[in-house]
Amino acid sequence: MHQLTLAEIARGLADKKFSSEELTKVLLARIAQLDPQLNSFISLTEDLALQQAKAADARRANGESGALLGAPIAHKDLFCTQGIRTSCGSKMLDNFKAPYDATVVAKLAAAGAVTLGKTNMDEFAMGSANESSYYGAVKNPWNLEHVPGGSSGGSAAAVAARLLPAATGTDTGGSIRQPAALTNLTGLKPTYGRVSRWGMIAYASSLDQGGPLARTAEDCAILLQGMAGFDPQDSTSIDEPVPDYSAGLNGSLQGLRIGVPKEYFSAGLDPRIADLVMASVEELKKLGAVVKEISLPNMQHAIPAYYVIAPAEASSNLSRFDGVRFGYRCEDPKNLEDLYKRSRGEGFGPEVQRRIMVGAYALSAGYYDAYYLKAQKIRRLIKNDFMAAFNEVDIILGPTTPNPAWKLGAKNSDPVAAYLEDVYTITANLAGLPGLSMPAGFVDGLPVGVQLLAPYFQEGRLLNVAHQYQQNTDWHTRTPTGF
Ligand code: GLN
Repeated sequence: MHQLTLAEIARGLADKKFSSEELTKVLLARIAQLDPQLNSFISLTEDLALQQAKAADARRANGESGALLGAPIAHKDLFCTQGIRTSCGSKMLDNFKAPYDATVVAKLAAAGAVTLGKTNMDEFAMGSANESSYYGAVKNPWNLEHVPGGSSGGSAAAVAARLLPAATGTDTGGSIRQPAALTNLTGLKPTYGRVSRWGMIAYASSLDQGGPLARTAEDCAILLQGMAGFDPQDSTSIDEPVPDYSAGLNGSLQGLRIGVPKEYFSAGLDPRIADLVMASVEELKKLGAVVKEISLPNMQHAIPAYYVIAPAEASSNLSRFDGVRFGYRCEDPKNLEDLYKRSRGEGFGPEVQRRIMVGAYALSAGYYDAYYLKAQKIRRLIKNDFMAAFNEVDIILGPTTPNPAWKLGAKNSDPVAAYLEDVYTITANLAGLPGLSMPAGFVDGLPVGVQLLAPYFQEGRLLNVAHQYQQNTDWHTRTPTGF
């Protein structure tokens, strides 16, 4: 039963092949048995899950239907969940029980989804290896000595290991697409403003966006349907109608114009990944797509701009964790300053402290123009590059990451080496565009992802292309040995 996708679960529940309660029990047992190898969960919510599953079964018995009614999922542990620990992977919030549900959590619960637990993540979503969590590193089910990617690494590892069919994640610079690529999943970062950020603990507010991680594009469509939509509680949420994503999956790709940026194929890209990217282009050509080389001339500036903007916003957002209102407080503070210093010094891990320092520096009076303002200008240039490209093509295709999953600890001593892994994903966040990563092959037994980018609000186009690709390839069906 654990092999079923969300779409198959919906059919099974509708046909009364099994109940949500039965399925939930099977998956909870599987998590208890297998997760100790992976460390993909921070908290399990067994009681809530069984209660939600029974309620979903009762709603179905009363004639209700819906693709998410009774579907087991999990939330990245930065979505606030009422009365349940919401740690953000940090000692700072180890004792924090959110007083309310994030909009995403509330919407999915209303649609009947069953929450099995809260997944592990890089501390405050900062990272691309899921090694900076206070709760320990997450392991990649494809090879337990390798990282699963981050920061939504717990969600990715759990779904890849078939502990559950789908989970939520968030993506500030690649944290849905990159772990999806490294664990053989399909992951979608929506257009900025498509999914409410209310109740999502902020990392970099102008870049953060929640989205689905699942095995197939079809399942991402189902989960996104439940997450997307205008939220008056989030001032950056956009009031645009949400299309029927599942209905759009079977559109023809005849004449689809795919742009492949020449800048993507630079020295940093593993040539074996470059080959798999070109193989995916050939596959899409068979389905009627036409391919064109394009240019994104300002791409080289993306990493420096991101690693100014994201830490700057993080330093501001994380100032609320002061040891006074909620979260960790140091023992026996001598005075107020000591309370601030030690609560933050003891509550935040090293990567979070590094980002706060960099961000506070970039925002300080003498340096604001030189760093933050400059980075914002680069951001506009990157957006303009994309706008020009989308005048010529419908979709942009390339690698999701320059390398497959690396060994645990391999990049720990060199944070910049890890930052460079974000080269293909962060431009979409800087521009606010939607992006999707889908499985496209293996290198040394480790999964490789291909990234698709589309114009604003064209999540449906991304899902359509990925679904058609998945109808004609079987990379996404491969299961890691032992799971
Ligand atoms: N790896 C990037 C960072 O560390 C992206 C993280 C994310 O998307 N949350 O900032």
